[in-house]
Amino acid sequence: MNLKNRILSLAAGLMIVASIATWTAYQQLSDNLIERWGKQVAEIQVHYDSARLLQSLEREIALARQMARSQALLALARTPDGPLIKAAAIGEMESFRNNFRDHSYFVAFLSNGHYYYNNTSNDYQGQQFRYTLDPNEPDDAWFYRLIDEGRDFHLNVNPDTNLGVTKLWIDVLMRNKENVIVGMVGTGLNLDDFLKDIVDTDQQGITTLFVDMNGAIQLYRDRNYIDFATIIKPEGQKSTIDLLFDSADDKRQILDMLTSLKDTSHTVESRFVTVNGRKHLAGAAFLPAIGWYEVTLIDLSTLLPKTHLWPLIAVFSASLLITLAAFHLVVQFRILSPVLRLGAAVNQVRRGNFDLPPLAKPGNEIGLLAADFEEMTRTLKHSRDELEHKIAERTTDLHSLARVDSLTGLCNRRSLDEILDVEIQRASRQNAGFGVMWLDIDNFKAINDSLGHQTGDEVLCQAALWIQCSLRPYDQPGRWGGDEFMVVLSPCDHNVLRFLSERLRQTVERESANGNLPITVSVGAYLCQPGDSAKTILHEADQALYQAKACGRNTVVIANKDHQIPG
Ligand code: GH3
Ligand code: MG
Repeated sequence: MNLKNRILSLAAGLMIVASIATWTAYQQLSDNLIERWGKQVAEIQVHYDSARLLQSLEREIALARQMARSQALLALARTPDGPLIKAAAIGEMESFRNNFRDHSYFVAFLSNGHYYYNNTSNDYQGQQFRYTLDPNEPDDAWFYRLIDEGRDFHLNVNPDTNLGVTKLWIDVLMRNKENVIVGMVGTGLNLDDFLKDIVDTDQQGITTLFVDMNGAIQLYRDRNYIDFATIIKPEGQKSTIDLLFDSADDKRQILDMLTSLKDTSHTVESRFVTVNGRKHLAGAAFLPAIGWYEVTLIDLSTLLPKTHLWPLIAVFSASLLITLAAFHLVVQFRILSPVLRLGAAVNQVRRGNFDLPPLAKPGNEIGLLAADFEEMTRTLKHSRDELEHKIAERTTDLHSLARVDSLTGLCNRRSLDEILDVEIQRASRQNAGFGVMWLDIDNFKAINDSLGHQTGDEVLCQAALWIQCSLRPYDQPGRWGGDEFMVVLSPCDHNVLRFLSERLRQTVERESANGNLPITVSVGAYLCQPGDSAKTILHEADQALYQAKACGRNTVVIANKDHQIPG
């Protein structure tokens, strides 16, 4: 994986880890906030629903209590068969009927089981005495159970099969002066209207229900769960609130919560529970006025759906992508591109190209590195130029050393070979001849032998100087080796060749005679023709020199391919 992908992968990895951490923290925080918010909502909702229920019932309960204390009714309890008393009592009942919200009432007497009732549409005018309660009749069991329990006030959701209605009954015990229970009065509220008003509201995500002391459901929008006539049901057959919850833990916690509410001074308590697989917050309050609990279930996913988080997730994802893109651009332009250009520059320098275009220098360590690299390249280039210059100088020196005779300073044999080649080619090209002279000092060995090698060297140097002085500026003399010298004359003809050969011989003879060591030279010369090879030329000159020696030395012989002419 290249550096760019590594950096981007690392950055993406770090961002994802940071995002997960942030997300987890956010979830935790939002869960806490939702829980706190939900508890407040539950508390408000519980108070609100309780107030609505009590507001609807309080007036009816007060009226029912007033009715239970009615002297006319107490009189009828005492004297059930007095016609006037009965008429007065029924008149009183009808008066209360007009005041009850439902315009209905019931009055039941313990002594004879007489049950009086009239409804909203006054169907039983003149027939308010409906029937006689029977302690052995299951439908009438509620009356005798409430009397047994001695609870002065009771709310009861109960169908009345005789009357064909299901109502929320407000039951209040009648007591005589001696505080003995003599009967029961009350009114009913139409359950449908009541459910619609109190619990069947269209508040999305909020469910309200009321349960009695035992947790039996009394008011709930789903009638199937309502525990009708709960007063006469044995424990275990009641439809209690715990049926609504999925887990045994929730069931136990809710029942514990209800018990704790009644036993402590807490007004509202709340717990998280699961209803139909969805997380709910359950808030509950105890209503001592009616002996019921009000329970509110808040569906958090409806009130605060997760879809609300999508914009947040979208913003989060977009910012993640933008951050990655920005990071990519910064890495690309501030690090990777300068590094790649620097790498290319390094390759150029490695191949010997020191003339680089200016490098990009971002204001960071890579920029400093690029600047240092440019400085290093300049220094390298300078060193290389200096080195090349020195090498060129040395090469020139070596080159000239290789072509110069170290003793006399004339061209050496190698140089003479090259000069000869150049002249041979020029002669062929221009179809013109050139001259070659081969000189050899006469009896040189004797000088060495008698005066020493050092003196011999001095004689060689002196002879070289005299040879050079006798020639034209463009003639090229050289030392062939030992006491032999060669001169290449160009341009040249026969006369020039003879003239210069003779002049050279005479100069050596004359000049050396002026010193204290007279020497002479023999000269073999050859006028080269176009097409002559080096081998031919050397052979001819050598033959001429041989002739000169043979003729007694200190002589010039001009060779000719056909004949030699002694000078
Ligand atoms: P000839 O007249 O036939 O040429 O007789 P010569 O004595 O000159 O004989 P030759 O040319 O053959 O001898 C050349 C001598 O030159 C032989 C050698 O000892 C000597 N010699 C060769 N190179 C050098 C040198 O560099 N310095 C000195 N001092 N002597 C050299
Ligand atoms: Mg010699």
